[in-house]
Parts: sequence; structure tokens; C-alpha cells
Amino acid sequence: MIRSLHTIILFFAIAALIFSCARQPLPPPPPDHSSNEGRVGAAARDLLTDSVYQSVLIEIQYMEGFAPDSMAVRNTVHFIERYSHKPGGVRVVLQQIPTVRDTIYSVDELLTLERKYRAHYNDEDELALYLLYTNGVFVEASSLGYAYGATSAVIFGKNVLENSDALRRPSRTNLETKVLQHEVAHLMGLVNVGTPLQSDHKDNEHGKHCINKQCLMYYTTDIEESPSLVVRRKPVPVLDAACLADLRANGGR
Ligand SMILES: [Zn+2]
Ligand SMILES: [Zn+2]
Repeated sequence: MIRSLHTIILFFAIAALIFSCARQPLPPPPPDHSSNEGRVGAAARDLLTDSVYQSVLIEIQYMEGFAPDSMAVRNTVHFIERYSHKPGGVRVVLQQIPTVRDTIYSVDELLTLERKYRAHYNDEDELALYLLYTNGVFVEASSLGYAYGATSAVIFGKNVLENSDALRRPSRTNLETKVLQHEVAHLMGLVNVGTPLQSDHKDNEHGKHCINKQCLMYYTTDIEESPSLVVRRKPVPVLDAACLADLRANGGR
């Protein structure tokens, strides 16, 4: 008798425990951002074609004093419209974020900032890109920009400002356009990062870049303009035939 009473008490205790557990709301599943994360070039086809995403959202976040040049942003929107199939268009959202005191960024620090502030990720038919304008410089100090993830790139605003709009320097709009378009082209898989080579034009010494000095995907941005070009500033370089052929073969236009 005592035993069975114990059994009954035990039964109710367990039942109460189960019910109380069942009443607890389940924690929400962690958001799945896998299609936005991953290595540079992993989203190349998603960016070039409309098979999954019909439109593109460019989220730009910037620290105080480093708001993007609006013309450079417009030029970059046109760049995506020109080389990608996006019948739904390309839109931009801008937001200022708090300035970080430490001004030398490693990739890990950039990722931490992105995770903290990035608000937009891919949805059903819109691909989201993330561009971060920082106050600081990269571990590689002369860098103007760096594509560091499948849909993410950073622009080193300080270097862009210090190297433009002065004697023998390109205009800010031109330099910033060049940097933005170059980084977006990396996200499109150039050169040979997600978009396979159609010809032998990869600069093996400098990784994902093009050997053609006139091409947008050449590894260095010649910030120093020759004196003869001070009056008539050079236009922003474009993708050469070899890079364009790669994009088209991977679904671009
Ligand atoms: Zn590059
Ligand atoms: Zn090229």
C-alpha cells in the first residue's frame, strides 16, 4: 500500500513536471543566414542570376563622418543592374552606426560589427548585400576596400577620403565608385572565386584579381594620378572582356 501510494505520488510529480515543461514556450530557432554568409564568391550566382532572387537590396551602414558618396552609390546600383539579371531592381538602405574607437580592423572584428548591426538578410526573392563604411583602416593599412564574405564588403572611408579630391588624386566619386564596384565584382565571383575562368586572365600573384592593368579587377587602385591627367581625370575603369566573359558564363549579362 505504501509502495503504491509512492508510485501514485511519483506519477503525479512526473506528470506535473512534464506539463510544466510543455507550458514553457520553445525558444525561437536561430535565424538562418547561411545564404548570406560563407566565403567570398559563394553568392556569385545568386547575385548574377534571377533564378532565386529577382531583386537586390544594398544595406549600407557607416560610421560618423563616413557617409557614402551618393553618386558612387548610384554608380554601383547601375553596375549591378548592368551585369546582373535583376528584373525587380536594386534598392539601397542607409544607416549610421556608432563609431568604434579601435580603428584597425581585422576580418574577425568586421564580422563582429556586421553581426551586431546588419539588419537585412536574404528573403524569399531579394538578395541582401552588406556594405560597411568604417572610420578606420584594415590590418593591411593601404587597403581601400575588402570583400570579406559571400554578401559582405567593407570600405575604409578614411583611406578613400585621404586619397581623393586633392591635387593629383582622383575625385572622391571616382575613387569610391571604383572601390565599390571592384568589391561588388568580387561578390559576383571575380576573379575565379565562385565564377569560373573562361580564359587565362587570373593574376596568380595577387589572388582573385585580373592581369589586365586597365581592368576594374586589377589588384591595385592607382591612387597617384600622373600630372598630365590632373586636368582631365581618368574615368573609372570597367570590366575587361575576359572578366565580362566569366560573368556571362556564370549567368550574368
Ligand atoms: Zn580586389
Ligand atoms: Zn579583367
